[in-house]
Amino acid sequence: MERPGRRTTVGAAMTTRTAARVLTALLGAAMISATTVTAPGNSLVGPPAATAAPQSCPTPKRYVVTNVPATVSRNVALTFDDGPSPNWTPQVLDVLAAKRVHATFFMLGQNARAYPRLVRRVVREGHTVGNHSQTHPQMTELSTSRQATQMDSATRAISAAVGGGYRPCFFRPPSGDYNNTTVRLARARGMSTVVWSHDTRDWATPLHLSASFQRTIVYRATKPLSRHPDILMHDGSRGNYRQNTVNSLQRIITFYKRRGYHFTNPVGPSLSGCSETPRSPRVHREGW
Ligand SMILES: [Zn+2]
Repeated sequence: MERPGRRTTVGAAMTTRTAARVLTALLGAAMISATTVTAPGNSLVGPPAATAAPQSCPTPKRYVVTNVPATVSRNVALTFDDGPSPNWTPQVLDVLAAKRVHATFFMLGQNARAYPRLVRRVVREGHTVGNHSQTHPQMTELSTSRQATQMDSATRAISAAVGGGYRPCFFRPPSGDYNNTTVRLARARGMSTVVWSHDTRDWATPLHLSASFQRTIVYRATKPLSRHPDILMHDGSRGNYRQNTVNSLQRIITFYKRRGYHFTNPVGPSLSGCSETPRSPRVHREGW
């Protein structure tokens, strides 16, 4: 479950980053240059990937991202937390594929480890995988080292599932609960800390199909109208009921498509955790 994020001032100093600055010519002329950040604990080797290019993340933001940065006139980030789930993630993916848009899945490490094939499918279909911690704790209640362990364990699980050096570029703190330490640790690992602008509160769903609750989800995903919304939904956890989210998704996508929005990752269309290793022809659609 999520609640509105705490807003804290992020300290300017970052002391532990080990950075290797590399221009990512692979991204092509249309892409901006990026900074490759080699993070401690991320030198993992998973199963061999078909196109195992070294991965670059956008330079981590110094601030906590709520709205999607205005890289184009209108962009929207669809985000799904707490998965992957064998019950719901495939359904979400099917809707996204049918509508030919991309989204970001903020996965729990424990679920990525349990369902590595789902993690691979998400990446293969051109979506972005973000880090949502290993076990969904309240980060501000943890010591620095335990916060770091939560991030690193989840990154290891995601990297091991996907292979090819893939690692998440975004960290979404569970329940939007973060402090300066959280943001500093995420940056040191090459990740921007991302919360959201529009909370659908879909986790409060009744445990049955509900047309009225689906209308509520669509309303919360689209109001107030914003040019750069980041929309919080959920495709996990196992056992929870997400059919109303799945059934709302097509209408949410249609709403934004009709208004000319680009569907991007949480920091805009230029880069994502998947764009450097296109495994699907859809990767470069929708302003990705
Ligand atoms: Zn969550």
